[in-house]
Amino acid sequence: MKILVPVKRVIDYNLKPRIKADGSGVDLANVKMSMNPFDEIAVEEAIRLKEKGAASEIVAVSIGPAKAQETLRTALAMGADRAILIETETQVEPLAVAKLLKAIVDEEAPGLVVMGKQAIDDDSNQTGQMLAALWGRGQGTFASAVAIDGDHVSVTREVDGGLETVKLALPAVVTTDLRLNEPRYASLPNIMKAKSKPLAVKKPEDYGVDITPRLTTLKVVEPPVRKAGEMVASVDELVAKLKAKGVVA
Ligand code: AMP
Repeated sequence: MKILVPVKRVIDYNLKPRIKADGSGVDLANVKMSMNPFDEIAVEEAIRLKEKGAASEIVAVSIGPAKAQETLRTALAMGADRAILIETETQVEPLAVAKLLKAIVDEEAPGLVVMGKQAIDDDSNQTGQMLAALWGRGQGTFASAVAIDGDHVSVTREVDGGLETVKLALPAVVTTDLRLNEPRYASLPNIMKAKSKPLAVKKPEDYGVDITPRLTTLKVVEPPVRKAGEMVASVDELVAKLKAKGVVA
């Protein structure tokens, strides 16, 4: 079985995003970019399924600028077998990404697509669901455990009340939650080996998909600055202050 793993190049999760002075978006000039953390978890899960003998090939795919090749090389260094970059400088919205992924799915016929539940830059949490709908296949979102069972996959999902397990007929789409696994670091020999793994570069036009954005960003602003706290010496003082402010009667 082939597993397709879409990976997005995003601002590194350790960085505090800076908003552009004109409020048009996040400033990405000279900023460290990395693989979306949920996608690292997806790559790790695909590798574990391959190690267990449930998968035979892992194909990583990214839609983004030429530099997204670095993100794909990271996936290859972790253990993916080959990669596809659909190169574009346009910011691609979830529906366009889902349509491009559907075109790749038609070409590659994977048994499973494992992808992040959300990209930490746009926080959309839409692409996996849209891909499953366009493909007409089942979806197991927010997975905290994945097990292949013949021609089905069992996905344990983190829902409000606890854990829900669903069984989906393959092929299907699985989106990863944080507790699914802890992604491995690529070893130096594997980073070297990844340089010679196949990486195909395509364009959105090759798949006949219109990626023109449909949304207009009106404004991006910094979150309000938190006011400094106040130290109190005793519970009585705290209660007195809360009463004075009308927070408690
Ligand atoms: P989103 O719906 O934007 O929050 O993204 C959910 C998931 O879709 C991500 O974790 C990725 O696995 C995938 N994805 C979104 N955008 C891209 C992209 N440009 N290239 C590859 N995968 C993407």
